[in-house]
Amino acid sequence: MTERSTDDRKAPEAMRLPGLAGKIVAITAGASGIGYSIARVFHGQGAKIAICDVDARALDAARETLTGCLAVKADVSDDLAVDAFFNAINQAFGRLDALVNNAGIAGPTGNLEDLAPEDWRRCIDICLTGQFLCARRAIPMIKAAGGGALVNMASAAGKHGYAYRTPYSAAKFGVIGLTQSLAKELGPDNIRVNAVLPGIVEGPRMDKVIRDRASATGVSYDAMKDDYLKNISMRRMVTPDDVAATVAFLISDAGGNLSGQSLAVDGNVETL
Ligand code: NAD
Repeated sequence: MTERSTDDRKAPEAMRLPGLAGKIVAITAGASGIGYSIARVFHGQGAKIAICDVDARALDAARETLTGCLAVKADVSDDLAVDAFFNAINQAFGRLDALVNNAGIAGPTGNLEDLAPEDWRRCIDICLTGQFLCARRAIPMIKAAGGGALVNMASAAGKHGYAYRTPYSAAKFGVIGLTQSLAKELGPDNIRVNAVLPGIVEGPRMDKVIRDRASATGVSYDAMKDDYLKNISMRRMVTPDDVAATVAFLISDAGGNLSGQSLAVDGNVETL
């Protein structure tokens, strides 16, 4: 057996993922939430990043912390705004290696028969059509760079379904279909396409869901939270950094030959 020195067993302070330094990576909805965590991880790995978001103030704040980042105000469901985002990337960097299609909204909550058609359309427009609009602009640029990767943000709702959140769930099932079809289409161009499916992510959004459900059912916040955790093998919620690490791995050269995959980052959640 080979002798190992103590130094060999020391964990590196920051894990360097191969091939990320110098990569140009576009991240939608990168100014806050999971998108911002993703942007921070790529920035820390030495990638050059371009983010878009609809929140101008959050974009200003991100510009401060992510030095050298291109931050553009754009709604992913608006094809002209998406065009402007990718034109700005071309102008700033002259190249694109990867796209993280992260933007998505929770969409309306309620019985399907009570949903207004415009609420259904808005959810599909942002969660699914937005990924198409960004991919169609990113792909020619990534092809011109000789290949690269796309990661599309899906959700555990795109695997298990999500009662009273049918438009969101349907959009996220669609994201998985988009991913699998694009992976077949783009493999010969040396472009890998994968989906990431976060489960129950901790943060203000989930906190509000727990609080609302607790007060609607007359149980305590802690009891409602425990109810959620019971369905998760790891007994903890996902953090935005858990998701960001998986996205970075998939885009890096460590992602190797992975394509067409749906990676659940959910602590093995059984149901939503
Ligand atoms: P969030 O609600 O925290 O929003 C993050 C950012 O998205 C904000 O800065 C917001 O301004 C921006 N944004 C909203 N609509 C936009 C649009 N049309 N165009 C551009 N930017 C827009 O979102 P999040 O919780 O960080 O979720 C990010 C992704 O992860 C989404 O696709 C979401 O569906 C998915 N996801 C989230 C969870 C969760 O529990 N948070 C779970 C599973 C999947």
